[in-house]
Amino acid sequence: MVKPIMSSEFVDGRTTPCCPHCGGDMCGVTVPLDDLIDAIPFPRYIDVASDGYADESSVALKIDCPECFRPSAVAQDGMNWKLVACRTAKDRAFEQEAAPVGAVGRWR
Ligand SMILES: [Zn+2]
Repeated sequence: MVKPIMSSEFVDGRTTPCCPHCGGDMCGVTVPLDDLIDAIPFPRYIDVASDGYADESSVALKIDCPECFRPSAVAQDGMNWKLVACRTAKDRAFEQEAAPVGAVGRWR
């Protein structure tokens, strides 16, 4: 099983997990109400690829970090909130360009 790149620890004095990309404070994130309603109930697990990142196009609710602007998926397990790091279409395009044909290994 691949371990997701995620965060569930709160930043001191805050009520949301920190950004799984940069550790930044996610309390300033804004979410359109219809996106929020569409995502309920929040998933308990988020599918990730072999590199531990989720695909941003396949998650129920995606939020962008106000500090590093990278996307994360929201998941809920009981009373606990988790954020799973997502890859963007731009990330994937960059990886395909960087990887020589037939290359073996993982690209970050
Ligand atoms: Zn961040």
